[in-house]
Amino acid sequence: MALEYKATDLPGKILYPKEFSIQIRSITPIEQKYILSLSQKEQKTNRDYVEFLKKLVMIDNPQMTFEELYWFDVQYLLYRIRYLTYPKHPIKLGFKCQNCGEPVEQALDMGALEIDTPENVQTTITLDNLGEFKIRNKLMQDDITIEEFSKKMNFDMEDLQLRLLLLDLCLISDNGRKIEELYSLAEQGEITADDIFKVEKWFETNIWGVKERVNITCPHCQKEASRGYLLSIEDFFSIV
Ligand SMILES: [Zn+2]
Repeated sequence: MALEYKATDLPGKILYPKEFSIQIRSITPIEQKYILSLSQKEQKTNRDYVEFLKKLVMIDNPQMTFEELYWFDVQYLLYRIRYLTYPKHPIKLGFKCQNCGEPVEQALDMGALEIDTPENVQTTITLDNLGEFKIRNKLMQDDITIEEFSKKMNFDMEDLQLRLLLLDLCLISDNGRKIEELYSLAEQGEITADDIFKVEKWFETNIWGVKERVNITCPHCQKEASRGYLLSIEDFFSIV
């Protein structure tokens, strides 16, 4: 039997300059095994998951690549694929009632996912010395990843502040400039500390995402509450 694809919408649809539509398919049992083995692999990277997800997504415009999708759309696709694969097995979330302390179980209704959308999406940022930069909010597709760049420069991979700085630089690295060039501009002070602050601020206010909150009513004391949850990629593809 041929694998069946289903059309899906994307929350960020209006933001793309290219026209395209997307179809997704469910995960086969063999692929399910692959996901589980990947979750046990020690040296896995996001790239491993991205390569896998790409196989489940069909884009009808050859000019548009998976890597150009905004991250929040990829996140949304993850939920849709999970829902398509196990429609009868919603993810069950476990909470402890903050009122009476009893355990509460809630099924995640993936058919009714809500998206957090910023009110005005800003796509450019003006840097102090370098002027207007297009901000990018997409998967890393640089010729060099942050990991490889850090190795090349002999950076301490455990240095969290440095990693955050590199991530911020990646967000502005598609005005034809590469991460290496931007890093040296930051070293020379051409990119200022204030610029980095602006990038961080952008990230906080402009990121879209699936609303990872559910409303729960405790079956023991009837108290209602809204609780946040966070699912790992392994959770997505296991029947829980
Ligand atoms: Zn309760």
